[in-house]
Amino acid sequence: MNFEFTDEQKLFAESVHRFALAHLEKDALKRAHASRYPFDVAKLLSAQGLMGITIPEADGGIGGTLMDAVIAIEQIAAVCPRSSDVVQFGNFGPIRTFAEYATPAQKARWLPKLLAGDMVMSLGMTEPDAGSAVTDLVTSAKADGQNYVINGTKVFSTFSPDAAIFLVYVRYRPGLGGIGSVIVERDMPGFTIGVPSSFMSGEQWCELHFDNCRVPAENVLLGPGGFKKQMGSFNVERLGNSARSLAFGRYAYNVAREHALTREQFGRPLCEFQGLQWKFAEMAIKLEAAQLLLYRAAVNADRGVPSAYETAVAKAACNQTGFEVASESVQVMGATGYSRETLVEYCMRRCRGWMIAGGSIEMLKNRIAEHVFDRRFDQRPPKAKAQAAE
Ligand SMILES: Cc1cc2nc3c(=O)[nH]c(=O)nc-3n(C[C@H](O)[C@H](O)[C@H](O)COP(=O)(O)OP(=O)(O)OC[C@H]3O[C@@H](n4cnc5c(N)ncnc54)[C@H](O)[C@@H]3O)c2cc1C
Repeated sequence: MNFEFTDEQKLFAESVHRFALAHLEKDALKRAHASRYPFDVAKLLSAQGLMGITIPEADGGIGGTLMDAVIAIEQIAAVCPRSSDVVQFGNFGPIRTFAEYATPAQKARWLPKLLAGDMVMSLGMTEPDAGSAVTDLVTSAKADGQNYVINGTKVFSTFSPDAAIFLVYVRYRPGLGGIGSVIVERDMPGFTIGVPSSFMSGEQWCELHFDNCRVPAENVLLGPGGFKKQMGSFNVERLGNSARSLAFGRYAYNVAREHALTREQFGRPLCEFQGLQWKFAEMAIKLEAAQLLLYRAAVNADRGVPSAYETAVAKAACNQTGFEVASESVQVMGATGYSRETLVEYCMRRCRGWMIAGGSIEMLKNRIAEHVFDRRFDQRPPKAKAQAAE
């Protein structure tokens, strides 16, 4: 067992850090407070080889490891937190599911633009009545000649105000085995995108409405039975979410540490007060522990897909740590931490969302408990279970 980066990983981390300092540091504050997807950053990161790190070279990616992509998130976020959303998109998000299951024609059509940073994709999974219980989704896809007719509504989709294409989870028929996905293009008749709403983080999302939206059969990504495959890829998304949570917590911690070294009250620097020293000690313990869990899940990923259990443990730890550390960093910095002149409050707001998104901490704990007891705990009441089985 070795807890050090390899020489290659060290060099990679240093080069990404240097790149971030040179190109992303200057506007980090401005970028964080802009609600829309930073296409300029996406193009920069693409030119630097930081999009598609985990996607095979044959598909236009870099053919690297999940750990490389985690390192990229950490190094970019350490300088410009907001820009790490682009690393997330280009390496961990729906693009991974797409690259894994798309047909050659679908890949040829969309992957080059997605990897070049010219286009962004949004994931339409959550519905008004299907959040944590995602398999309750009712957005339907009915075959009609060479098309599928889509009806339903999706909510909370990240990047939806800017996305050109949407990876939409649909139901072809009842039951778990009836779920799959299609690619819906922004301008398809019958597809309307609502006015943007804002998350606490300042990011925007729009309701997606499908009203007899006709999607050609060549836009089907996964047919009936695709749900389990999609959820396998979703563990990758969860690691990206974990990496950003941790990186944002660490960003806030570093700013707070600097503040505690320089800010004086009662005639001495803040770091000389034991009440604050212990906060930093606790933050350091949490950051180190969560980082090990994150690295374990990324390094152990089998053919690029991390285990569900290791991912659940890592995400729960990183989400909790990111938020708690960012929140304590705000506290340590007083009103300065609470104000928008630094990115500490921003990191706290972003981390709060990741405790809900991509598998809430509670749902992850359900998964972990199943591992602990080596048995499945159905969340549904017995009556609903019987109905679902019909
Ligand atoms: C920042 C952000 C970005 C997002 N991006 C996307 C996106 O790109 N695409 C997309 O499709 N969706 C996205 N979502 C939506 C996200 O997937 C859902 O918010 C999430 O699945 C939870 O669903 P819900 O909000 O409906 O909460 P609910 O499912 O209603 O849950 C409410 C609360 O109850 C808890 N709970 C529910 N069931 C259980 C249980 N069985 N045991 C214990 N606790 C339980 C939950 O953990 C939560 O705390 C995003 C959300 C956020 C916050």
